[in-house]
Amino acid sequence: MLDDMFDYLERIGERPAWQPMPDAVRASFRERLPMAPAELSSVHDEFLANILPYSNGNVHPGFMGWVHGGGNAAGMLAEMLAAGLNANLAGRDHAPIEVERQMVRWMGELFGFPATASGLFVTGTSMANLIAILVARDAALGFDVRRSGVAVNSKRLTAYASMAAHGSLRRALDFCGLGSDALRLVPVDSQHRINLAALRHTIESDRRAGYSPFLLVGTAGTVDTGAIDDLDGLALIANEERMWLHVDGAYGALGILAPEIAPRLAGIEAADSLAFDFHKWGQVPYDAGFVLVRDGELHRKAFASPAAYLEREARGLAAGSVWPCDLGPDQSRGFRALKTWFTLKVYGLQALGRTIARTCELARYLEQHIAATEELELLAPVSLNIVCFRFRCPDADRVNARIVVHLQESGVCAPSTTRIDGELAIRAAITNHRTSGANIDALVDATLSIGRALTAAAEDLELEAVYLD
Ligand SMILES: *Cc1c(COP(=O)(O)O)cnc(C)c1O
Repeated sequence: MLDDMFDYLERIGERPAWQPMPDAVRASFRERLPMAPAELSSVHDEFLANILPYSNGNVHPGFMGWVHGGGNAAGMLAEMLAAGLNANLAGRDHAPIEVERQMVRWMGELFGFPATASGLFVTGTSMANLIAILVARDAALGFDVRRSGVAVNSKRLTAYASMAAHGSLRRALDFCGLGSDALRLVPVDSQHRINLAALRHTIESDRRAGYSPFLLVGTAGTVDTGAIDDLDGLALIANEERMWLHVDGAYGALGILAPEIAPRLAGIEAADSLAFDFHKWGQVPYDAGFVLVRDGELHRKAFASPAAYLEREARGLAAGSVWPCDLGPDQSRGFRALKTWFTLKVYGLQALGRTIARTCELARYLEQHIAATEELELLAPVSLNIVCFRFRCPDADRVNARIVVHLQESGVCAPSTTRIDGELAIRAAITNHRTSGANIDALVDATLSIGRALTAAAEDLELEAVYLD
């Protein structure tokens, strides 16, 4: 199995980036419950035949969809070790917990948080955003809200983020009982960053209307275009308005490892909380989200809950409070910290920073290609590693959506789509450390040939009927 996966990683570029699953393969997952045992090797064969070739594709250098990290071999091996240990990181006194605590201290140091900060591994930034927003809510309403609920007194709390902010924030406000309407989406400037003047204006008019603004969310690397909000500017406003500053740095926060990006994250050290993912730009295998909270005591008070079966002791296995289960909704938790610890130690932060910078260089290379190609058009400024563009043609939204499907089905590369000012864009988020200039060239060439074929065919055929090899 190890050899299979080493071969897989080593020769990933020879495979299609993604391929549709044949009906027979899909049908294989409709088998009945396995009451009787089977040989390990036969289940492994099934994995090789039916699962491995039809995976997500984000290990492939041509994968540029959404914002997916590429993973790495050291992290993969650490996953095997972690599964062998089968540690439960709810809490208690054992070395895996110390690894997670070391990661918390390291991340606190990296982002300029005080030693009293706390942190936690979670599935991803969606969960990290939720945890941070719950701490901010409880700090604003008082920790009694955990018993009484928000119905007793929500103070009409309101939160603020830019229109380019991630949808998980809206959901977090929903989950924490304040309702998604409590999230005000502030317009962005020409660089897709939050407009600070508009933000001040919205806060002021909400205060006049009897709302209690409590939370500002800055994004470090927006999901559509990679824009970085002015975090220093947001920190100033949060300070003046006595609001909690949360930074959604899902993929962009780790840009701090690249000397050419770090200055653009200035202000991140002033955040009250920070959410980010190791599984995106950090190249750690899925999943490895992370939340840091400046005031570890507020963090604990928002989640800790006494229970007889979770009693703490000064010695023995039940020692070592605070436990991770005091800092988030999960009790049983896996050892996500290990694959992250291995990745950081084996490659070193400088090399990780270089791979991050390299993805941004590739984005600029793609930008230059687009500028030099009459048939292509850039739809948003290139801030980091994300490029939004389209093939110029009549009925551009429909044609470009088809182009992306054909690109994915071609196996050459796998970008995704988004909308920029209402227009459909081909979105290439270059996140994988394996991606090279040749993959960018292949994306451009394939986009042009598919775009040309579709527009030529559209002149005399139903567009949907066009089939391309
Ligand atoms: C990816 C992303 C998220 C969600 O993170 P998950 O790890 O997918 O839960 C939130 N915010 C931004 C800006 C993102 O890019």
